[in-house]
Order: sequence, then structure tokens, then C-alpha cells
Amino acid sequence: MTDDVVTDLLAFLGASPTPFHAVDQGRRRLEAAGFRRLDETDRWDRLPPGAYYVTSSGSNLVAFALPAPEHRTRFCIVGAHTDSPNLRLKPNPEYVAEGYAQLGVEVYGGVLLNSWLDRDLGLAGRVLIKGERGIENRLVRLDRPVLRVPQLAIHLDREVNDKGLILNRQDHLAPVIGLAGGAASLTQIIADVAGVAVDRVLGHELMLFDLLPPALGGWANELIFSARLDNLAMCHAAVSAISPLGPLGRAASEAIAVIALFDHEEVGSASAAGAASAVLPRILERLVPDREAFHQACAGSSCVSADMSHAVHPNYASRHEPRHKPHINGGPVIKTNVQQRYATTPATAAMFAELCREEDVPVQHYAHRTDLACGSTIGPITSTLLGIPTVDVGNPMLSMHSAREMAGSRDPALMTRVLTRYLRG
Ligand SMILES: [Zn+2]
Repeated sequence: MTDDVVTDLLAFLGASPTPFHAVDQGRRRLEAAGFRRLDETDRWDRLPPGAYYVTSSGSNLVAFALPAPEHRTRFCIVGAHTDSPNLRLKPNPEYVAEGYAQLGVEVYGGVLLNSWLDRDLGLAGRVLIKGERGIENRLVRLDRPVLRVPQLAIHLDREVNDKGLILNRQDHLAPVIGLAGGAASLTQIIADVAGVAVDRVLGHELMLFDLLPPALGGWANELIFSARLDNLAMCHAAVSAISPLGPLGRAASEAIAVIALFDHEEVGSASAAGAASAVLPRILERLVPDREAFHQACAGSSCVSADMSHAVHPNYASRHEPRHKPHINGGPVIKTNVQQRYATTPATAAMFAELCREEDVPVQHYAHRTDLACGSTIGPITSTLLGIPTVDVGNPMLSMHSAREMAGSRDPALMTRVLTRYLRG
């Protein structure tokens, strides 16, 4: 059942407890495939054909394969997001309550709050260090169960199973990091993990993560159980799909293949690293420096917004639109919503379905129940910003936004195949 794509996806998920780690993992894979890093502060107006990537903030990643100038006539873009809902430390997180040392957290995105209770949690993110040449960002990862958000005993909450669990975000989610007086200061812990003296730690951007590693599951290993499948599974598919266009394979391309992995989708995409920023339009413009040629290229371009999709839930089948119930391992899902919560148009849906047919990959369709509010993706945002027709797609999954999600182990290879075909132009 396992294939190389799934094996590498599990490694990618396990190595990426935060968006910063995910970008680092993507960057490593791209470099191994022959992609070269570009600096946005350099001149790009005479970029020779080749494969390049940019990461402007450490939490987003844009990679592209540039053919010879005369072939830079349109863009084939795959978009995805690097962030996942989770719990993140506040700037001054440390406090003591009832003899426990605790850390104050903020809720990032649409977290299924209950899923973070009673788990063995580590701490990861990036730390600002005073370095030899100014301020440096350093990735850190504390890989042991130092934290836990303990649930209230049923004896003190007798109605929880019948009336449901209500969690106050300020009062009920602060993890315990030990008993008061027992734990080192957070700055000391961070300094130790980063391997620097305490006085060199200038700041931090840290989040909690579940220590349980990603795993194949189900009787026949047909499932994947992991944190952050939404949306690192699609980041992985995008990176895998553009990798063959590193210098050796690039000659086959008749278009500029682009992948854009953005941060902050789960909180609305409005940030310098998010899909609503000028980052992608600015980069695309620099790849076709002649202004008229750039507008011509945009007019002939397309975009695939890849974000995980809902599979039908066997215990809650009535929550799904009766004729749009995607199944795990049933292949990529095309998502449509007339309110434009998804950017798909009939034409872009047909384009993607044709790619699937050419690759002998089954395709499924998703529409939300009309009486439920629909989620969204980066698709409508980038298609508005760029004026480029977009299709919203994703692999089917359950438990979306839980600390531990679930998807199929056959779907990753299918999506990767279709995106690879798409990026070949
Ligand atoms: Zn998502």
C-alpha cells in the first residue's frame, strides 16, 4: 500500500510541526531537486532559464521553473498554505496558578479545541537570536512531552457527555509546564534548545504540537493519521510536483511553472506572508519584466488552489450534501461554491477534470450543504488579486482542524501525479 510519495509525506509532516519548519522542509527538497535560492533584494531582470525559489518571511515559499524567455508566455500556478490551526504562546506567557507553572496561549485559526486536551505536547517554532551579523531567526523544536492541557475530571463536570464540552479560550486552554518552582524559565528553555546564551534570545514565535508521529492506519494501511494534513499534505504535493522541473526536466516546459505556499490562511490571509499580500503578484511580474508581455502572460494563465477537502463522515452523513460526498482514496476533489468561497468555475473544473482523465486519476466533486456556512481557501483571494482563473481542489479527509487528522494513503500519489502533469504546462 505504501508508496514513495506517502513515505515522504509522513516524513514531511513529522518534520514540520510549524509553518517555519514546513518551509524549511520544502526548501530542502527543492534544493535537492536543483532549485536555487533567490533574494528578493537582488536584481532579477536577466534571470537565465532555471529553477528558483524565494522565501521572503520564512513562513511562505514561492518556487518557479523558468523556461527560455521566448517561452515565458503564461503561468501555471499551484497555491497552498503552510499554516494549521493550533495553540501559540503569548509574548509573556509564563505564570503560576494553584502551584502549577503554566503558559498563556492564543488560539490560532479555527481549532477544534477539544482535540488539544490530554495530549503529550512539545513546543516548536522560531527564535530571534542576537547573532554576529545582526538578528537571526533560528528554528527550534522541543521534542519531549513538556506540556499538557489537562481536561477537567468528569466528577467535576457531570453533564459534559450529554450537554457538550464548552471551553473558554482564555481560562481553559493554558497548558501546564510543570509544578511551580520546578520548571526553568521559558527564556532559559528556549536558549538551551537553540544552543545559545540566555542574553542572546531576543524574541520567540512558539507553538504547541502533538508529539505522536504521523502514521499509516487502518487494517490495510489505507489511511494516514497525522497532525497538519490540512494543509501540509497539499504543500507536499506541490513541492513534489514541481521538483521534476529542476534544471534537468525544465526543457519540457512551455510555461512558467509556479508553486506558492502561503502562511496565515487559517486567519484570513491578510499579512505580508499571506495570500492576500503583494508577494505573488510582485514575483510573477519580475519573471516577465516587459509590462505588456506580463499582462499577456497573465491573461493566458491558470491557477490550482490545493487545500484539503471534506470526505463524507460515516457517523454524520446527514451533514453532507447528498450528491457531493467525496470518499477517502477516491482521488482529488474539485470544490465548488457559487458564493465564491471556492474559486472554481465550470471552465477551471473542466480543465482539472481533463488533467485527471489524462493521468488516469479518478476525480470527485464537493459542494457544501446549502444550509451550512462554507469554509474557504486561498483560491478566491489569489484569483481576485491576479485575475487568473482558478480551480479549488484538495484530497478528501476527516477531522479537519483537529490536532490529529485523518486522510487516505492512496490519494497523495494521485494528487501529486495530476499536479505534476499540470505544472509541465
Ligand atoms: Zn486548509
